Amino acid sequence: MRILLMGPPGAGKGTQAALLAQRLSIPHISTGDIFRANVSQGTPLGRKAQEYMDKGEYVPDDVTNAMVRDRLTWEDAVNGFILDGYPRTTAQVSELDAMLAHAGIGLDVVVELHAQPEVLLQRMVKRAADQGRSDDDPTVIRRRLEVYAAETAPLLEIYGQRNLLRQVDGIGDIVDVTSRLVAAVS
Ligand code: AMP
Repeated sequence: MRILLMGPPGAGKGTQAALLAQRLSIPHISTGDIFRANVSQGTPLGRKAQEYMDKGEYVPDDVTNAMVRDRLTWEDAVNGFILDGYPRTTAQVSELDAMLAHAGIGLDVVVELHAQPEVLLQRMVKRAADQGRSDDDPTVIRRRLEVYAAETAPLLEIYGQRNLLRQVDGIGDIVDVTSRLVAAVS
């Protein structure tokens, strides 16, 4: 299956995408995780990405698109994948459409994991304390939520018009949310 998992920062996408990927035996491709791995390895890509991530801004489309274009050609993605955190802009949607069309494949489903803004804030503050993510400080969190609303939320309409969108409540026990997701993609 080829799945996009969307939702605002703090909705639990990373956790749920990893669980769902395990369940479906397909790779979990998280652009945020790939950027963070590059930041911790100090690669040129990581240095570039960090400038934006630390401010709560999106990494430029050309950088992000090239990275995803490469990742989707890996052998493990041949039979499907869960994309987590990509696409996030309308330009990335067009780019993903082109990549998939080139490979003669399409998306099966787009799932939006949703949660109220107050819950998102609480979760991210807790994550900052637990994991020490440098983009989880209050000013950056606020900026990430704003950027999501302005740049990424409109993508839900695009996928809705394509009849690919399913919405899942992201609030509750992790196992319950996973069950809802499994039902939504089945
Ligand atoms: P995430 O872990 O998905 O919340 O991503 C963390 C950060 O990585 C984001 O706040 C962005 O700075 C950057 N990032 C991840 N995915 C993308 C994307 N598709 N486009 C641009 N920036 C991204």
